[in-house]
Amino acid sequence: MQLNIRQFSSQDTGFKTELSKLLSWESVSDATVQERVESIVNRIRTEGDDALVELTNTFDRRDVTNASELVIEADELAAAAQRVDSAIVDALEKAAARVKAYHKKQKQTSWQYQEEDGTILGQQITPLDRVGVYVPGGKAAYPSSVLMNVMPAKVAGVGEIVMVVPTPDGFVNDIVLTAAHVAGVDRVITVGGAQAVAALAYGTDTVPRVDKIVGPGNIYVATAKRMVFGQVGIDMIAGPSEILVVSDGLSNPDWIAMDLFSQAEHDEDAQSILISTDLEFIKAVKASMERLIDDMSRKEIIKTSLEGRGALIHVASKEEAIEVANIVAAEHLELSVESPEEWVKDIRHAGAIFMGRYTPEALGDYCAGPNHVLPTSGTARFSSPLGVYDFQKRSSIIHCSHEGASELAKIASPLARGESLEAHALSAEFRIIDKQ
Ligand code: NAD
Repeated sequence: MQLNIRQFSSQDTGFKTELSKLLSWESVSDATVQERVESIVNRIRTEGDDALVELTNTFDRRDVTNASELVIEADELAAAAQRVDSAIVDALEKAAARVKAYHKKQKQTSWQYQEEDGTILGQQITPLDRVGVYVPGGKAAYPSSVLMNVMPAKVAGVGEIVMVVPTPDGFVNDIVLTAAHVAGVDRVITVGGAQAVAALAYGTDTVPRVDKIVGPGNIYVATAKRMVFGQVGIDMIAGPSEILVVSDGLSNPDWIAMDLFSQAEHDEDAQSILISTDLEFIKAVKASMERLIDDMSRKEIIKTSLEGRGALIHVASKEEAIEVANIVAAEHLELSVESPEEWVKDIRHAGAIFMGRYTPEALGDYCAGPNHVLPTSGTARFSSPLGVYDFQKRSSIIHCSHEGASELAKIASPLARGESLEAHALSAEFRIIDKQ
């Protein structure tokens, strides 16, 4: 199948304009979606479980009469694991163990230090009490999302993890429930969309109110998360998934073609970009894609994604490749080059960096260990992968000795008076030793 993929070069006039056109992504903030989500969120707030049941019956084509039918308790999750192929259970357990081992390194601990006058300053770390994990389930099932969202929360020591997942037509995916069991989810509620997000944010008789909601979802889920932010914490608003492969032209073109497909098969809006210093290699990768695509089960999605948002970019040098990679700030960056450690030190913006020819993104998606929930749409310029730190909070600790308070008060007092805050000034001054 011929592929009509955008191809351009850093030597072209208007290169930067072409690049910025390629990267522009208007997150759909459709007024109709906004209105619909607002109405769903308000209904859940005011009508609770009754609205949750009605909306779930409507959007997921279910026939639920009582909200209690929406709940799957931990023992039922264990039962689901019995029904799943043992090779899949084994793979889920191995992946979970690797994700856990990696995330343990991220765990922050409390610290404090003492000043000469006895004053103690520090930071106390506490896990969140209760977290809601949204697992998408409208069109496909995502057991790997369960592991990636739940494991860091478990490592952080979150008290209770409530997972929501829609079950269209009442079909419950046993592999998703098994992943929930392996990861240690406390309870699953089979609801989805904006109604699930609102129920987690405000609480209903059946769905406990949580402190933070994490996990990806479609436009209704993303819009609802944006709307309830402030009432609860959220992880991020994810855009379409992206991969940027940087190649020195020495990799197998078929491997690179499949790495680009692996992103494009997610959905029509996903973005796959190849940058190389070798024009002949770019042509070879294109030829590989055109040969391999016919055998792909998701070939229509891949074609739409590659032709709509994909690109093959020729650059003149390694330095230019790195400069473009930093502008793209990709969610996934593959450095398919010899000695990737020579390149990585100049990479400043990327969600996850896959080093060398033997590290395709797919391994990171499932089981390497680092999280696959990553910043998209260039947000790697200022944000980071989901991690244990998203499920921990910091409280500052200040414990003044009498002498320490007296000295601090001498600094605080003029500052408070400068702000015309008399009670602040007096509160501090009362602690000054020779004024007592
Ligand atoms: P979903 O669970 O996000 O959404 C399904 C729900 O959408 C339904 O239960 C329903 O309540 C609601 N809905 C559907 N049509 C509606 C309408 N007309 N009005 C109001 N509500 C409606 O599942 P999905 O639709 O399959 O989308 C999953 C998304 O998550 C995809 O975009 C996928 O790419 C993304 N995803 C991202 C990652 C990641 O790590 N970034 C991982 C997995 C999935």
